Amino acid sequence: MKLHEIVKRKAVSIPVVDESDVIVVGGGPAGIAAAVSASRNGASVTLLERYPYLGGLASGGMVLVLDDMHNETEISVRGIAMEIIERMHSRGLCVYPPKSDRALDVRGLPETVRKWSRWGVCDFHVHYRPHPVVFAAAFDPDGFKQAALDMVKESGVKLRLHSWFQSTIVEDNRTTGVIVETKQGPQALRGQIIIDATGDLDVAASAGAPFADGSYIVTTVSRMGNVDTETVERFQYEEPEKFLALEKEAKKIIRGCWDYWWLKTPLPGIVWCNCPHMTGFDGLKVEDLTASEFEGRKRMQKLLEFARQSVPGFENAYFVDFAPQTGVRQTRLLEGEYVVTKQDIMNRLHFSDTICRGRDYYTPYRALLPKKIDQIIVAGRHYSATSSAQKLSREIPPCMAMGEAAGVAAVLALQSGIRIRDVEPGKIQQMMRAQGADPGDQPAANALLSGAA
Ligand SMILES: Cc1cc2nc3c(=O)[nH]c(=O)nc-3n(C[C@H](O)[C@H](O)[C@H](O)COP(=O)(O)OP(=O)(O)OC[C@H]3O[C@@H](n4cnc5c(N)ncnc54)[C@H](O)[C@@H]3O)c2cc1C
Repeated sequence: MKLHEIVKRKAVSIPVVDESDVIVVGGGPAGIAAAVSASRNGASVTLLERYPYLGGLASGGMVLVLDDMHNETEISVRGIAMEIIERMHSRGLCVYPPKSDRALDVRGLPETVRKWSRWGVCDFHVHYRPHPVVFAAAFDPDGFKQAALDMVKESGVKLRLHSWFQSTIVEDNRTTGVIVETKQGPQALRGQIIIDATGDLDVAASAGAPFADGSYIVTTVSRMGNVDTETVERFQYEEPEKFLALEKEAKKIIRGCWDYWWLKTPLPGIVWCNCPHMTGFDGLKVEDLTASEFEGRKRMQKLLEFARQSVPGFENAYFVDFAPQTGVRQTRLLEGEYVVTKQDIMNRLHFSDTICRGRDYYTPYRALLPKKIDQIIVAGRHYSATSSAQKLSREIPPCMAMGEAAGVAAVLALQSGIRIRDVEPGKIQQMMRAQGADPGDQPAANALLSGAA
């Protein structure tokens, strides 16, 4: 093989298979919310997804806690994110703490700590232990897929699965459609507004929008079954020294995890392992993604052997599955009309063009708008933020809130016949509120109020 050899593709004629007001590329949390929001407000919407299911990292990546949606005593992300939680909850596929257990400083409340800490529904950003219990939701990945399919279908979105985005059609500095790869060959789709919800900024980057290269830890997430969680918890609280010694051994094998290497899921006996976290892998590179799969599985196989032999409750455990999607948190980041910084997040800076919010931070409309290219908007983990800011503001509910706002913005642009970048943020705020979302237009008491656009 000659390395660096270039092979030229012959020019092909590509059939246009669909036309919509809005095309959303990427059926993850942000894309689902964007498509549902735009469609419910009257736009014709096509949603494109490469895999045979919806949910992105939430389902295919088996990221099984929806968090970063609670600011001190109030829930700060509502709207479509809350709707999907309630839909899963009504089927017994989602668990969250009742109001009476939330927003509590649980130091001195051992029963509450014991009840909730293995569900991961805590505020991990405070610097003391145990972390306070907040509103967050532990869910089942297939529950998320089904609820997303139901919402997309009910709202009239045209869903096209098995469609890999390939390139953006740009004419006179505005996007007019996209090309996807399919089993039938390339297909073109026309749209007046494109929403990039790929998480890796595939669409905006292909259109020529400026971006920065971000990177962060990569994780091969898995689930173990047949775990006697009651026995493990009894051991943890009744024999803390022995438990901590085993935890230390387990963490040596994992080489990269948060406080807990396993958490409960709504399915009895099945636990979520959000580990091992691995550094040095580029989430866009085929070679790195392949190598991370080998490395992650190797560490986890060793961990399972250790747990079966040594940890009470894990004697008969086995792997149920490894996530079909590699746990990539950060790749390309938009350099948009405003770039959110770590200080903005840490200071809880409020912007006059805030159109959604996360835990206790605010997202300005400008951070969804690419420079240079018109009629495209982004939503999700590739939004315009520095790498360190994105690490603090990329959780699923805030990404869904961004998607919901992007869908609203697209409809407002279409209704007024203006460019999406010219939509008034105040109108997005109004429409978000009207549909039950929190646009963050009313800063909380702990916000910093100097971020006028
Ligand atoms: C291991 C791990 C643990 C995490 N833990 C948590 C947690 O506990 N709680 C939490 O809330 N968040 C957590 N996060 C963060 C969260 O999962 C993501 O930031 C969030 O899912 C981002 O949503 P998104 O819609 O922007 O992107 P994604 O979830 O990445 O969705 C993007 C979608 O676009 C599709 N797509 C991508 N490229 C193409 C293409 N070329 N053509 C067609 N479709 C395409 C993908 O298949 C996917 O469906 C974690 C992330 C990881 C990786």
